[in-house]
This record gives sequence, C-alpha cells and structure tokens, in this order.
Amino acid sequence: MSTESREILKRVFGYSSFRGDQEAIVDAAVEGRDSLVVMPTGGGKSLCYQIPSLLRDGTGLVVSPLIALMQDQVAALKELGIAAEFLNSSQDPDEQRAIIGRLQRRELDLLYMAPERLVGQGTRALLRDSPIALIAIDEAHCVSQWGHDFRRDYLELNELGRLFPGVPRMALTATATERTREEIVERLELRDPGTYVAPFDRANIRYTVQAKTDARRQLLGFLKSHRGHAGIVYCLSRKKTESTAEWLNNEGFNALPYHAGLDTGVRSENQRRFLAEDGLIVVATIAFGMGIDKPDVRFVAHLDLPKSMESYYQETGRAGRDGEPADAWMVYGLQDVVRLRQMLDESDADDAYKRHERQKLDALLGWCEVTGCRRAPLLAYFGDRLAEDCGNCDGCLVPAETWDGTEAAQKLLSAVYRTGQRFGAAHVVDVLLGKTTDKVVQHGHAELSVFGIGQDLDAKTWRSVVRQLIVGNFIRADAERYGAIVLTEDSRALLRGERSVRFRKEPKAPGRSSRRVTVVSTSIRAEDQDLWEALRECRQRLAAEHAVPPYVIFHDKTLAEMIAVKPRNAAELLEISGIGQAKLERYGDEFLAVLHGSEAAESANR
Ligand code: ADP
Ligand code: ZN
Repeated sequence: MSTESREILKRVFGYSSFRGDQEAIVDAAVEGRDSLVVMPTGGGKSLCYQIPSLLRDGTGLVVSPLIALMQDQVAALKELGIAAEFLNSSQDPDEQRAIIGRLQRRELDLLYMAPERLVGQGTRALLRDSPIALIAIDEAHCVSQWGHDFRRDYLELNELGRLFPGVPRMALTATATERTREEIVERLELRDPGTYVAPFDRANIRYTVQAKTDARRQLLGFLKSHRGHAGIVYCLSRKKTESTAEWLNNEGFNALPYHAGLDTGVRSENQRRFLAEDGLIVVATIAFGMGIDKPDVRFVAHLDLPKSMESYYQETGRAGRDGEPADAWMVYGLQDVVRLRQMLDESDADDAYKRHERQKLDALLGWCEVTGCRRAPLLAYFGDRLAEDCGNCDGCLVPAETWDGTEAAQKLLSAVYRTGQRFGAAHVVDVLLGKTTDKVVQHGHAELSVFGIGQDLDAKTWRSVVRQLIVGNFIRADAERYGAIVLTEDSRALLRGERSVRFRKEPKAPGRSSRRVTVVSTSIRAEDQDLWEALRECRQRLAAEHAVPPYVIFHDKTLAEMIAVKPRNAAELLEISGIGQAKLERYGDEFLAVLHGSEAAESANR
C-alpha cells in the first residue's frame, strides 16, 4: 500500500518523499480508519486526503468552509490531471447537475463542497447513491463553539458517520489546543480515530522583532533582502495601509492596499492580482488573508502590533506555506501598546473580556522583549516545546545584549512617583533628562529631586526602559488617564532595591536584518538571473493561458531546481521536485525550450 501511495506522490504530485506523518495518515485512510490531523498551515494537509481519494474506490468528499479556497484547490488539482470539482452556490443548476452526473458515473476523484451543502437533504440523498472514497473535513475546528471560527453547519456533520458507514472520515485543522482536539473528535463522532499532531513549529519562518525607531526606514532595510518577492505588510488602520502602499510604490516596489473599507471590486481585484502576479506586496489590515492560500508569500511584516500571540501566529503563518525560507518581521513601539490598550478600554465589551484581552496583549509584549531565542517562548505559549534554540530568529542570530537596569529603573519609578503618576512617558523622560519644557515649568517639576537625574542615558534608551518596565509589569500606562504612567504592586520591590532587572540593549542602527546573510534557497546567483527571469516569464505566460496563479504551474523552488540541475529531457525533468506526469506533459517542452533554447529541446524529445 505504501508503495502505491508513494508512486502517486511521485507520478501525480512530483514529490519524492512524504513529510512527517503524511504517509501514516494516508495509510490509515486507505485502510478505512478515521483520523484527526493537526498540522500547521503549510504542513501539507491536503495530500493526506487527496492521495487516499485517488487510491480508494469512489470519490473523495472534501468539506471546506471557504469557497475561494475551494476554487483554487480544484484549479490546482486539475493542473495535476486529477478529476476534481466543487459544488457551491456560485454555480447555476445546470452546472451543478453536470457535476452530480459525473459523481454518479464515478468520474470524479475529488469533490469539494461547503458544509451547508452537505447537510442539505437533497445532496445527502444524491450522495448516498454514489460511491464515496472518504470524507475529509477541513478546518475542523469550526465545530468548536469556543473557537473564533464556529460554524453551526459543522455541528451537523456528526451525522456523516451514520449516513456513510464504512467510509473513513478525516478531520483536519491547524488549531492545536487539546480542548479543540477533543471537541472535534466528540462532535464529529469520529470512530476511534488515529490522531496525528505535527509539531506546531514553522521552522522555515524566521522571526525578527525590532523596536520602532523609524518604521519606514526599518522596513526599507528589511525589504532589501526581498526584492521581487511576494509579501504582506500589516498595518492597524485603513488610512495607513493606503499611505504605506503609495510610499512603497514610490520606493520602487509593487504594492497594493487592502482593507475592508475599499470598494468590493477594488478589493477583490487587489486580492486577485496578489495571487496572479509575481512579487506583489499587499499592504493590509488584518481583514486580508482569510481564505487565501498563496504558498509563496516570502514575508509578512507588521508595522503595527497585532493584538495577541494568536493573531500574530495566524498572520505570520501566511508566510512560507511552501516550506521555503520566509520572514516574519515586526517593529513595535510604546505608541502601539498605548493605542491597543486604549482601543480595548474604549470598546463596549464586558470587563472580564477586556481583562482577558489585556492579558493576551501583555503576553505578546513580553514576547517582543524576549532576549534569547524567540521561537522557544513562541511555541511554549501554544503548549509546544523546542529542544534547543532554533538558530533562525533574531534572538539566535543577533543575540541581544543586556545591561543591569536596576538603577535606571529606580530613577524612572521615582520620577513617576514624584510627578504624581499623572503624566505620560514623554514628560517623565523630559523630567529625567532635566529639560525645561513648558509642561515642566507649568507643574514646577524642575524643583523635584528627580529633575535631571537621568542624563546618563539618552531619550531613546529611556523610552526603551519605559517599554520594558511596562512589559515587566512594574508600571502601566493608564488608558483612562490618557496613558499616564502609574506604578504597580511589583514596582515596590524594585524601588526598595530588593530585586534587580536586566534590560535588553536596543540595536544601534535600525534595520539590523539587512546585515544578515539571506539563506533563501530560491535566491538565484547573479549569472543565472536572466534564466531565472526567463523561466518566470514562461510560467507567467502559461499561468495566464490556463487562468491559474503562477505557483499552480510551478513553485519557485521547482524553477530554482531547474536552474541548478539543467535537466536535458523529460526523464530528467521528472526528477525535479514538483514535476509530476501531468505537468511534464503540459509544460515540459516549454520549460526545456527556455532552459536550452528551442532546438535543443526538440532534439532532446526526439
Ligand atoms: P496545508 O493545507 O497544511 O496548509 P498544503 O496541503 O497546502 O498545506 O501544503 C503546503 C505546500 O507543501 C504545498 O505547496 C504542497 O504542494 C507542499 N507539500 C505538501 N506535501 C509535500 C511533500 N511531501 N513534499 C513536498 N512538498 C509538499
Ligand atoms: Zn531562535
């Protein structure tokens, strides 16, 4: 059995080995057993049900809540020569009838549908008379009433077990908490399912977080290593997405804005272009990204803080789904913290909710200030462990230096106390630096004992001290009083000298990521640059002809491998990752022609 699934992996998908538990999951389904599959985004969930659907008798049914994703997946499968279709409300009755006809004639390998479709009486009756190979339930966490993606229709999917006895069911999700897992098994009534939980880690994503000094300049520095790459830049406000996109265009990047306030037509056009064109940057609010499945997003940059670790992980998870190196890069500053807390305080939510959300924000802030490996605490937050430091985050690559900040902290806490816990960080820092501003004069703060005691440090360092003391919960910015800094319980021990603190040194120049060596394996040597462009042009042309995004033709990785290997004929092309039989037949000649000039390709084929 394994040999059969491996043969399909190679022949149809063009891959030479399974990843992680994929093979065991495929085997379980082929043998007719239920399973629960928990894999991070980009882990390779789809193969787990696609291959058994090809191996077992009948059609594989895939329940998926996102109509846009369905269309993309089906288009990609057709490119692989797989008989796949979807049923949803966007089709007229004739189209639907034609698809159901093919289902009944056993002509379909895979059929995607939305959950509300599957629970409808009419569809069920039809399906009962059709041979079903397996039922895959994607985004299975949607059954969880506690989760943020709850969908009522998913609750009715439990009946599938009774309606199709003997048909294996596979529930798949990227949401890993223990509780959600149990809920899925229980509510979907999976029968003694094999459970496969892949490591939560996205090892190919490099995490970098910097203090915000000059966000745009820092972003430019970061983008140097991502020329021509597709990426997402997240901002908090709609206005900022537009101004940032415009500025990026002026800087020579190809950038488009995306937010919920854009005209629907413009919005979907921008999303379409992001998928269809190479190397586009979308500057977006968090409204962007749901239901896009672009595998070659090379970076996700945050110009503003997300609101929790969960949001951060989800948003950055959109990078590098193809498993190739990708960057998650973020700048954050005190302003973000104050603003997010303020937004929270001003919302109409109840107190318990606000407290909960504040804790989530604090967890994220604490993580931003981490001094060692960044990945370890990130995974720990989600209940996963990392055996050793990852070597692929800023903490590992450019270890932060720390300094003993006890005395500085005491000075700052004293200044907060002496000025009456009524002022924001900027004023407190002015007092420490001994600046006679209007405000200082107005409140008589030049007479205080703390006035000017902080001249050993500069304003930037003091702001960093404030930020780290907030994260450490020694002070807090009181949103009800316009961000006034107030002391917390924990500050006492510090003030009394009963405990010490260490702060992380801020990097001297912004954009330290630009110093590092890029290890993007798809990066192309200078002498191959022309060939690379020619291959990408060929891909873009074929993509337009077939009305699919370029990555559906071939991933960057496949093109890069072509350059490295220079395959001379069909057999050698088949050795390259991502080239299976169908794609070889469809595109092989075109790419050989680009690689060797058209005559060489013809003679190789003879
Ligand atoms: P998920 O649904 O878990 O987010 P996908 O199924 O979309 O992930 O897979 C992510 C990417 O990894 C896809 O581009 C897919 O072709 C690729 N992939 C999956 N399994 C393998 C494998 N065994 N070898 C190489 N590439 C793989
Ligand atoms: Zn690390």
